[in-house]
This record gives sequence, C-alpha cells and structure tokens, in this order.
Amino acid sequence: MGLVTTHAIPIKTVAYGEADLIVTFLTRAEGRVTCIAKAARKSRKRFGGSLSLFCITQIVYSQKPQKGGLPLLSEASAIRSFENILADVSCVAYASCWAELVLRWTHEGEPGEELFNLLSGVLSLLDFDTGQAGRLHLIYQMRFLLLAGMAPRLDSCAVCSKPLDEAAPDGLWFDNRAGGLLCKTCFDEKGRGVRVDAGTIKLLSWTGKNSLDQALRARFSGPALMNATKLLESFTPFHLGQTIKSLDFLRRLREVP
Ligand SMILES: [Zn+2]
Repeated sequence: MGLVTTHAIPIKTVAYGEADLIVTFLTRAEGRVTCIAKAARKSRKRFGGSLSLFCITQIVYSQKPQKGGLPLLSEASAIRSFENILADVSCVAYASCWAELVLRWTHEGEPGEELFNLLSGVLSLLDFDTGQAGRLHLIYQMRFLLLAGMAPRLDSCAVCSKPLDEAAPDGLWFDNRAGGLLCKTCFDEKGRGVRVDAGTIKLLSWTGKNSLDQALRARFSGPALMNATKLLESFTPFHLGQTIKSLDFLRRLREVP
C-alpha cells in the first residue's frame, strides 16, 4: 500500500465512532482527499492542532482505501495555523465559503495543485490582514471559476461577441444564463439580465489575472466591489446548480449591524 506525503488544508471534519475523525483535505498532491484519522478525538497528542480547519499541514496517508474504507491518515504536523482567521467569525465564514466551493465542485483525487496554491494563498493573505476579506472573496471566487472552466465571459458579449469597449457606450448587462456580459441588442432580445457598469466588469476581469498580490493591489471602489461581489455570488451558485450554504450564512452575517 503506497503512502502519500503532501501539504494539505483540512476543509471539513466529521466525528466518527467513539474517537475517530473523518477529515477532508485539499491536498497539493492529489486534490481533494478524505481520510480517517484514528483516535484523533481520543488523544490530543496524536495529531495535535494539525487537523484544525484551514491550517496548512503536512500529512501522510495510505493511497489506496482499505477494504471498503477511507485512506488512513498516519501522520499530520501543522506547518502554519491561521489564528487571526479562527478568531474572527466573519473570516471563518469567508474561509468556510471557499472550502465549500472545493467540497461541492471538485471530486476526490482530481489534480489540485493550482487550487491548493489558490486556497493557501488567500488564507495566508486573509490571516495577514483580516480587513481584506471582501476583496479576497472576490479574487478567490473569480479564480476558482477560471480553474473550474466556468468563469463568466467578461471581455465581450456572451451572445454576439461584441467587444466590451464597443458595447459599453450603449450600456452593459450581465446574465447568468447567457454566461456573462450582454450588449444592449442582446439584452433587448433576451429581455433579461442586470445592468452593470464597465468599471465593475473590468474589476472582475482584473481579479482573475496577475498574481494574487497584484490582484489585491488593484484599486477597488466600494460600489464596484459591492456590485462585483453581488454578480459573482449570484453567478457561482447558478452554475454550480446548488445552494452554497456558507454563502447564505455570510450574507446574513453581513446584514448584522
Ligand atoms: Zn450581444
């Protein structure tokens, strides 16, 4: 039975039996992997804090499931924990939302190095500055959609391909079903879509390009950030075809004065 050693982020834990823990990781080597951590709840010494949600940890697990079971986690040691995230309910809500996208949209064992780098990158930046949560949320969603091959079309009309700059003077709309931007002619024909401004669309495009640091340095005005967030938080579950529970929680949390 082969053993895999890799960096990983615990994204879901479920108590199992008397003392065990089932842990789903996003791993660098093999994407999403769910393991059983024997006696993890019985002995604190066994895995220490290495299975806390959203930390970066090094794990060793058996590659092939045991008969009818899950891969067995044999070692885990925390490399970096994100105390600032865990101390802030709003940051936990954002991180939970990012983790839920991985849980709902990827399959066990799919290659996941780019996704691992994305999630570990945004978690590190969030822990460094929890005030960046809204921007990081936008950047993460946009890049996640790009990696999943489901990003909205933003450079031209999703129906007739008229370039953004040509279409903008007559107004721009965004339609989930069309998969992105609509020019005025296509909006009139379809009769659906929400009005958007070119600044919001360019902001969304920018967040999907360049390095994480560069994307974070882009100038975000408050209204553009809010509009772009609304668009993506509607687009993402529409194309996922499922409700994202932690997104609902995040929205309710934002409404709390
Ligand atoms: Zn069009």
